[in-house]
Amino acid sequence: MDQLLNDLRQFAETETDTPLSTMTTLRIGGKAKYTVYPETEIALDGIIRMIRKAGMPFKIFGKGSNILCSDMDYDGAIIRLDRHFNDFYFKDETVTAQAGCSIITLSYEAMKKGLSGLEFANGIPATVGGVCYMNAGAYKCSMSDVIDSLFVYRDEKFEWIPSSECEYAYRTSIFQKHLDWIILAVRMHLEKKDPAEITARMNDRRQRRLSTQPLDYPSCGSVFRNPENMNAWKLIDGIGYRGKRLGGAMVSPKHPNFIINSDHASGSDFLNLCNDIQRKVYEKYGIQLYMEVEKFNWQ
Ligand SMILES: Cc1cc2nc3c(=O)[nH]c(=O)nc-3n(C[C@H](O)[C@H](O)[C@H](O)COP(=O)(O)OP(=O)(O)OC[C@H]3O[C@@H](n4cnc5c(N)ncnc54)[C@H](O)[C@@H]3O)c2cc1C
Repeated sequence: MDQLLNDLRQFAETETDTPLSTMTTLRIGGKAKYTVYPETEIALDGIIRMIRKAGMPFKIFGKGSNILCSDMDYDGAIIRLDRHFNDFYFKDETVTAQAGCSIITLSYEAMKKGLSGLEFANGIPATVGGVCYMNAGAYKCSMSDVIDSLFVYRDEKFEWIPSSECEYAYRTSIFQKHLDWIILAVRMHLEKKDPAEITARMNDRRQRRLSTQPLDYPSCGSVFRNPENMNAWKLIDGIGYRGKRLGGAMVSPKHPNFIINSDHASGSDFLNLCNDIQRKVYEKYGIQLYMEVEKFNWQ
């Protein structure tokens, strides 16, 4: 066994050669050399120090619901928090949640307590860390509306930082500029409301997702960011690409800003289709579409 693997296993459960396709909702990707599941902050700190010392790259994964992996193997470590960092605590109108929690679980727990603010998130198959990193949102709401502060590991220190310092904007945060910062927990403020009203809003959102999104196929949600005051799906529809296929990747006939893995798509199938869409939309409308899904482990 190599020395780093031996050391990592002193600190956390560590797997070798796990397919990234099993760690992403798109079901695409080569194998990761190591996948590490720390249980505590101290273990995480030790792991990061060891990985850095070995000169190995690392990447935090939530539920992998916004990641497009290449087909290549990754010669680095994937660090996952969703196995052990998934506690949450409610106190009055405040909820403090660890980064590995499912945001869907949290939104239902808030609903049960008559707390409003997370209804929009009840169909996002993601972790709390991932939605804070992305400033995920839907139905004109986003995570930054409810975040007070985040507990972050950066520069080998742990600290709470206020949301006001996180440069939150549409699907953007400061964390996208500092890829080695790790969100460990978040403190959010919610609002007491009539539980029946919250339940009705969540059911409505769920119905809307079921009727407009291809949830029966692997996907990464919306592939492209919406240009200002425009819908990316309308531009894709406008170039006649609803239902367009490339290899195993297909523009969803139900929602053209979703590209689904309809039949064992490779990363290249998916990316080539994205590039083709960007080119055609630019030719027809002079508008540059930018990817919302993040490319990982591409050369
Ligand atoms: C069916 C479906 C529906 C979706 N609907 C929506 C929607 O309505 N709105 C929306 O905004 N998005 C939506 N998405 C996209 C996706 O769920 C979000 O972008 C989400 O924020 C990704 O979270 P994740 O935990 O899966 O993160 P991942 O995809 O695993 O990671 C995304 C990025 O966050 C980083 N990251 C993850 N955790 C941490 C952490 N703890 N600390 C630091 N960095 C971290 C990763 O390194 C990576 O760079 C949808 C996706 C699917 C598949």
